[in-house]
Formats: sequence, C-alpha cells, structure tokens
Amino acid sequence: MDADEPHNGERQPGERQPGERQPGEPCVVLCDLDGVVWLAHHPIAGSVAAIAGLRAAGHRVLFVTNNSGDTIAVQEAALAGIGIPAVGDVLTSAMAAALLVQPGERVLVCGGDGVRQAVTSRGATVVTVDDAGSTADVVVDVVVDVVVDVVVVGFHRTFDYAGLTRAARAVWHGARLIGTNDDATYPTPRGPIPGGGAILAAVQTASGVPAVVAGKPHAPMAQLVRSVIGEAAAIAAVMVGDRASTDGLFARTLGCAYAHVNSGVTPAGTPVSPVPDLIADDLAAVAAVVLGGWRPDRSPTAHS
Ligand SMILES: [Mg+2]
Repeated sequence: MDADEPHNGERQPGERQPGERQPGEPCVVLCDLDGVVWLAHHPIAGSVAAIAGLRAAGHRVLFVTNNSGDTIAVQEAALAGIGIPAVGDVLTSAMAAALLVQPGERVLVCGGDGVRQAVTSRGATVVTVDDAGSTADVVVDVVVDVVVDVVVVGFHRTFDYAGLTRAARAVWHGARLIGTNDDATYPTPRGPIPGGGAILAAVQTASGVPAVVAGKPHAPMAQLVRSVIGEAAAIAAVMVGDRASTDGLFARTLGCAYAHVNSGVTPAGTPVSPVPDLIADDLAAVAAVVLGGWRPDRSPTAHS
C-alpha cells in the first residue's frame, strides 16, 4: 500500500494520535490563577517553585484566567511580585472577548481596564467606558448620538444603574452583547463577591438578549489558547484548575487533560464533574506528577 494511502484507522509504527506525547516530552501547562497559583495574590504553598520546576524541565506554563478587569501589565506584575515571570504568558477572558470584536467596530465597554485594553489592541474603537460620574442625561446622549456595534460586559467595581442603562440601550439599538465571563462570584479572603457573570446577568435581563460568553469554559477562550500554542499543543496540554465547572469544562472544550487541585474553592473529597484526569492537593503535586512523566489517556474513549 502506498505510504500516503489511508489505513482504515489502524495505528502505524511511530504514528501518534493528536495530543499524544512521548514519555518526558514537554507539554503546555495551562494554569488557572485563583485557587491554583495564589489566593488573593498570596502564593499557594509550593506553586512558585512548581512553575519554575516545570519551566526548567522545558514545559511551557501559561496562565488562563477569567479576570478581565485588570490589564495584562497589572496581572503580569502581580505574578512577578510573587516571583513568577509571566510577560507574554497571561491569557485573559478580555482577550478572548476581543476575538469576537472586529477591527474598526465601535465598542461600549461595560467593564474594566483589561477589556478596554484588549478591545483597543484588537483595533476596535472604545466609544465609552463605565465611570462612576455618569448621569442619566449622558446615558441618553451617548446612545442616541453614537452608534455602538458591540457591548462587552466584564467585572468592574463601578458598575451602576447608569452603566446598566447605557449597555441595555445599546443592545436595544442593535449592538451585539458579549460577556467576558459568566462567573457568578469571585473569591476573596473575606468570602465571595459578585463576579462578572452577575453584572452580565443584569445586562442580559434588561436588554432581553442572551450574551455570547468568551471566557472559560467557553469556546472563544479555547480559540485564544489555540491561537497562541497551536491546535496540537492545545490537545496535549494539561489544564490545572480548582473549579471543575469552569476549568474542567474548559479542558473538555479544548480537548485536553484536566488536573483538579484541592487548594481552591472546591473542598477535598467533593465529587467533581467532569471527572478529572488527575486530582491532587495543589499545583506542586500536579507538577511532580507531570515531571515524573505522567501522560493522560488521550484515547477517544477516555472521556466517554
Ligand atoms: Mg480558580
């Protein structure tokens, strides 16, 4: 048979399945931040050394976060502040949302600086950003006088009734509605606070239009990861997270392995779905397993 001829699905010597790695071959480790690397910017024990160890062994570490409020520079600086170099290695839900915006479009940002930065980098024009000093009269002027193509909603602490009105009116006038993420809450040392999903829910309710959501576990974030590391590396990657409903489902969206850690919002022993490929106390334990040559089962039936 000709070498290029299809072989009816039978494995040929040396042939690899998509995402398959040889023992010891480096992979990409995709790390959630809150509950995996840190808690409120305080490093989780062993996480800094774990990331350094993975990188020293040739693995690439990227940080995949639904935090859309802070700019990339702020998030990179926060990681540098605990000893993790991260320039160019932070992927946010704001960046994923920006993939859904076309260059030249006019965007109403109902979100934070991270969204403004991502949308601007995309080549779109930010027509207005939420600010606490807005009045109802300004709301009317903005929406009547300025055509808005897209409303992007993300977490921001200055969200108010004027901002809600601006966003809803733009959608009523035909703007597309995009949410950076739909997390209902955000963890803090004093307990959870309302997350970007809570703000998005208000805009959806007022406008009557369901949003397209960009962040984990949704498809635009997976597309962002693939655009950075390529499709084969994305399938071979390991997603490390503390919330299966976000990080585990995102691993499924990406088609990669999910390593679940007990260092975040999910107490140890809690049944989680989807079922992880690996459950560990923390990132340090995951890194030890990866450095030991662990290769998750990537066969088509492994996740059935
Ligand atoms: Mg988390």
